[in-house]
Amino acid sequence: MGKTTGFLEHQRGHLHYRDPLERLNDWREIASLPPEKNLQEQASRCMDCAVPFCQDGRLLAGMTTGCPIYNLIPEWNDLVYQGRWKEAYERLTVTNPFPEFTGRACPAPCEGGCVASLVDDSVTIKNIERAIIDKAFEEGWVRPQPPTFRTGKKVAIIGSGPAGLTCATELNRKGHLVTVYERDDRIGGLLTYGIPKMKIEQSVVDRRVRLMEEEGVRFITNVEVGTQLSAEALRLDYDAVILCVGSTRPRNMDIPGRELKGVHYAMDYLHLNTKSLLDSNFEDGNFISAQEKDVIVIGGGDTATDCVSTALRQKCKSLVQFDIYPKRSEVRTPENPWPQYPIIHKTDSGQEEAALKFGKDPRSYSTSALQFMGDEQGVLKGVKSVEVHTEKNEHGQKIRTEIKQTEREWRAQLVFIAIGFEGPETQLLEQMSIDVNERATIAVSKDSYQTSQPGVFAAGDARRGQSLIVWAIQEGTEAAQQCHHYLMDLTSS
Ligand SMILES: Cc1cc2nc3c(=O)[nH]c(=O)nc-3n(C[C@H](O)[C@H](O)[C@H](O)COP(=O)(O)OP(=O)(O)OC[C@H]3O[C@@H](n4cnc5c(N)ncnc54)[C@H](O)[C@@H]3O)c2cc1C
Ligand code: SF4
Repeated sequence: MGKTTGFLEHQRGHLHYRDPLERLNDWREIASLPPEKNLQEQASRCMDCAVPFCQDGRLLAGMTTGCPIYNLIPEWNDLVYQGRWKEAYERLTVTNPFPEFTGRACPAPCEGGCVASLVDDSVTIKNIERAIIDKAFEEGWVRPQPPTFRTGKKVAIIGSGPAGLTCATELNRKGHLVTVYERDDRIGGLLTYGIPKMKIEQSVVDRRVRLMEEEGVRFITNVEVGTQLSAEALRLDYDAVILCVGSTRPRNMDIPGRELKGVHYAMDYLHLNTKSLLDSNFEDGNFISAQEKDVIVIGGGDTATDCVSTALRQKCKSLVQFDIYPKRSEVRTPENPWPQYPIIHKTDSGQEEAALKFGKDPRSYSTSALQFMGDEQGVLKGVKSVEVHTEKNEHGQKIRTEIKQTEREWRAQLVFIAIGFEGPETQLLEQMSIDVNERATIAVSKDSYQTSQPGVFAAGDARRGQSLIVWAIQEGTEAAQQCHHYLMDLTSS
């Protein structure tokens, strides 16, 4: 611990965000880092705790607290405080192959567990992580690390999201020949076509993909395994296969009017928008436009908020976000003590932008959609909603009841459904005879990441259910380790 009194001298500082009304006019990243001196001050707030809760990722009360990839946070905080940035970069990349992604888009469960938050605000760990990796790229410290020898074993990875990229990096560095198959035209999974470019610019993803290519990873895009390339052919060609296909089946809303023109899944909206932006700066017109429309986003999570920021940039006329939960408390409740992930009221950048543009926060809490209403041509013209009351029963299950006489009609020409995902698509799994579990995600044998088919592994959202980048990295690291053992056993047997 470089400075014993850092946390007493300095308040928690924040990222610099571009003016919300200015940033609504473009799709560039909204956050930038403060000067190095401020970051060093922020790093000095770390107390190098004897038990660093920030570093020890686990599920508490069903939520992540601490860092799932066990980042060596107190070590690199201290190195940053001392201005030893290169060593900080070296320690950061012992555990995290892609800090440029987590440093930008992670919800930072490490900060939820930070001991400093018991008496004050947590250390700004995520910003320091981003600062270290951004500086490392600027200084040219991030170099390709190709393996020094090849084992001759071949691995196919299906899916190029953070789980697939982690598996590919780890296995390639161990000397195996790795090919990543991706059905989209660009590599990155949800890093590319889910999380909007305001949070992670495409150049950040592409830069990492180039480095991996220089290390020897082969990427094949525009190929859907299971349709354009049979899974059987793949199995014959490779010694092992890892399924990193994500959890892409969207949860639907089975209410009247679902078929109306103007009701879309959030991911269709976000994917098309990003593709059109990257392909042609929207000149091809291949996107769903919210311009001059009344928009309702249904859902309270990351995906919903991303729809909010996107619709605002497309210059929607009005915007409402239905959140089925009541507004959270401003501070932790007694049922949500430290070091659990704090369930408190948060305003994301999208909601902040909407509040400035339209004069109020877009969220309508405890609100459930009852019906989509349309005209004679089958075009959406509004949504009927009702207020709901949520409570837990004796088994801890959430029970919702509609509150009488709270029905309301909202004008809308566009609705985006962002209420979660139900697991990986089934076609490929059926073709490969892969078992799924009761949550409809890929079943693996305990700790081995191996599926019901020998030599076929699974990692990321496809195994875990829709989650976070950092968990995809954690699963990718562990699945790669298990796959490596499997390949080495093949060699020695
Ligand atoms: C809109 C949105 C915003 C999010 N924001 C955040 C955030 O801010 N922070 C955060 O930590 N997490 C966020 N998440 C969650 C995070 O993006 C995911 O948990 C993470 O990307 C999962 O990684 P993955 O590699 O398992 O799967 P994915 O990223 O989903 O990648 C799976 C890939 O597999 C490909 N694929 C599927 N089937 C086939 C096939 N048969 N053949 C070839 N390719 C195939 C898909 O095209 C896709 O590219 C967000 C998720 C969404 C939907
Ligand atoms: S818990 Fe917070 S104060 Fe303690 S070591 Fe981790 S970052 Fe530093």
